[in-house]
Amino acid sequence: MKCPTCEKQIGLDWLEDECIEPNLDFDCPHCDEVLRYEIDEGTYLGAQHITIEVVDD
Ligand SMILES: [Zn+2]
Repeated sequence: MKCPTCEKQIGLDWLEDECIEPNLDFDCPHCDEVLRYEIDEGTYLGAQHITIEVVDD
Protein backbone atom coordinates (compact mmCIF):
# COMPACT_ATOMS: atom_id res chain seq x y z
CA MET A 1 0.00 0.00 0.00
CA LYS A 2 1.10 3.52 -0.70
CA CYS A 3 0.90 6.87 0.99
CA PRO A 4 -1.77 8.89 -0.87
CA THR A 5 0.38 12.02 -0.69
CA CYS A 6 3.91 10.95 -1.63
CA GLU A 7 3.00 7.56 -3.15
CA LYS A 8 5.84 5.81 -1.40
CA GLN A 9 5.34 2.34 -0.01
CA ILE A 10 4.17 1.85 3.56
CA GLY A 11 4.35 -1.77 4.60
CA LEU A 12 2.05 -3.54 7.00
CA ASP A 13 5.23 -4.83 8.65
CA TRP A 14 6.24 -1.24 9.38
CA LEU A 15 2.82 -0.43 10.85
CA GLU A 16 3.06 -3.50 13.07
CA ASP A 17 6.64 -2.72 14.11
CA GLU A 18 5.56 0.79 15.09
CA CYS A 19 2.51 -0.61 16.91
CA ILE A 20 0.17 1.63 14.91
CA GLU A 21 -3.43 0.57 15.33
CA PRO A 22 -6.09 0.84 12.62
CA ASN A 23 -8.11 4.06 12.63
CA LEU A 24 -5.49 5.95 14.63
CA ASP A 25 -3.50 8.84 13.23
CA PHE A 26 0.14 8.29 12.31
CA ASP A 27 2.76 10.22 10.40
CA CYS A 28 3.92 8.95 7.03
CA PRO A 29 7.55 7.86 7.47
CA HIS A 30 8.40 9.43 4.11
CA CYS A 31 6.63 12.80 3.98
CA ASP A 32 5.21 13.31 7.53
CA GLU A 33 1.66 13.60 6.24
CA VAL A 34 -0.87 12.64 8.91
CA LEU A 35 -2.51 9.42 7.78
CA ARG A 36 -4.92 6.78 9.00
CA TYR A 37 -5.49 3.24 7.82
CA GLU A 38 -8.40 0.86 7.87
CA ILE A 39 -8.51 -2.90 7.48
CA ASP A 40 -11.44 -4.46 5.67
CA GLU A 41 -11.48 -8.15 6.44
CA GLY A 42 -14.72 -8.82 4.61
CA THR A 43 -13.39 -9.55 1.15
CA TYR A 44 -14.59 -12.72 -0.51
CA LEU A 45 -11.06 -13.97 -1.08
CA GLY A 46 -10.43 -13.81 2.64
CA ALA A 47 -7.52 -11.45 2.15
CA GLN A 48 -7.22 -8.29 4.17
CA HIS A 49 -7.72 -5.12 2.21
CA ILE A 50 -6.00 -2.12 3.74
CA THR A 51 -6.88 1.45 2.87
CA ILE A 52 -4.72 4.44 3.75
CA GLU A 53 -6.29 7.87 3.80
CA VAL A 54 -5.09 11.35 4.58
CA VAL A 55 -6.44 12.81 7.81
CA ASP A 56 -7.93 16.12 6.77
CA ASP A 57 -8.89 18.13 9.83
ZN1 LIG B 1 3.89 10.06 2.45
